[in-house]
Amino acid sequence: MKFETKTIHAGVHSDPATGAIMTPIYQTSTYAQSAPGVHKGYEYSRTHNPTRTALQDNLAALESGKWGLVFASGMAATDTVAKLLKPNDEVIASNDLYGGTYRIFTKVFQDYGIKFHFVDMSNLDNVEAKINSKTKLICAETPTNPLLKIVDLRKVAAIAKSHQILLAVDNTFASPYLQNPLALGADLVVHSATKYIGGHSDVVMGAICGNSNELFEKLSFIQNSCGAVPGPMDCFLAIRGIKTLHVRMERHCQNASKVANFLINHPKVSKVYYPGLANHKGHEIAKNQMRDFGGMLSFELKDDSVQAAHKFLSSLKIFVLAESLGGVESLAGHPATMTHASIPKEEREKAGLKDSLIRLSIGIENVDDLIEDLSQAMG
Ligand SMILES: *Cc1c(COP(=O)(O)O)cnc(C)c1O
Repeated sequence: MKFETKTIHAGVHSDPATGAIMTPIYQTSTYAQSAPGVHKGYEYSRTHNPTRTALQDNLAALESGKWGLVFASGMAATDTVAKLLKPNDEVIASNDLYGGTYRIFTKVFQDYGIKFHFVDMSNLDNVEAKINSKTKLICAETPTNPLLKIVDLRKVAAIAKSHQILLAVDNTFASPYLQNPLALGADLVVHSATKYIGGHSDVVMGAICGNSNELFEKLSFIQNSCGAVPGPMDCFLAIRGIKTLHVRMERHCQNASKVANFLINHPKVSKVYYPGLANHKGHEIAKNQMRDFGGMLSFELKDDSVQAAHKFLSSLKIFVLAESLGGVESLAGHPATMTHASIPKEEREKAGLKDSLIRLSIGIENVDDLIEDLSQAMG
């Protein structure tokens, strides 16, 4: 089955009781047993719920994995992966990970005796330099936030495999439509389904997919023990969102490419970060591991000041100033004063985050309206 058919049909069956086409919202905490221990595979909804099962099977198919697990948020999914670790284990992660991932590693799991190394993964020598006998997990993210750096997933997977280290890839920015890390050699793919998978800014959810039965047993045990499961209504919303994932992603990519080309030619813009641009550092790798270049881009103003960025952002009429990404509506954000405000200015500049850097999540509106909005806000 091709991806576009899987989004609509994989894992989702019409309701056996009524023939209803859409998976019912099984809003139930428990299930009747005909005799003690005799049931239809469902005992209690922290462990299993039929609406959740449909979504998990669908996501597994989209990531070409054997199994999927969904969680109450993207962070709950990452938390579950980190709980595979034990005190004294070491982890190598991208130095420009999603801020919440950096926070859970450094402020939560570090206190449990796990050691984290953050390296620039666009040069994989940096990864090899940190590997030792305690290294148990490599966490990669590509494209990254907000500079859209690209990590070569085939190469990092080969390094992980040769040292028998698990590789988990956060695939949120690409979505399963654009990139399938399991097929490129990753052991686990992690998603914030809050973003492109849900796609309509109406649900917070996370997911993990993989192929190893052993990892499935461990992760589902942690999930059932710790309990960060999503409710059936949220699972229904995600199933419904996924049915148009391919159509939305196609338009996100088309629109973002046009916006990137508008911005590089604008006299007030000094730099545009979009993997689809031929001069982007990771362009060739992105071409090799992604189907298209995604809906996220960032840019800097020639007037590199917080004031100039704020003036631009408050002049936007269609783009909404908000955190998050991946919904049908276009969003704009200012990393220096929003998502990355907690990082001191000096550290921010070292990481390449200029004061005027603006991040856009390009939606699926008419692109001419989007470009007109950006153009008028430039003043
Ligand atoms: C949003 C996000 C997360 C966290 O997901 P939540 O659903 O907000 O918990 C993790 N990784 C990336 C890349 C994200 O954008």
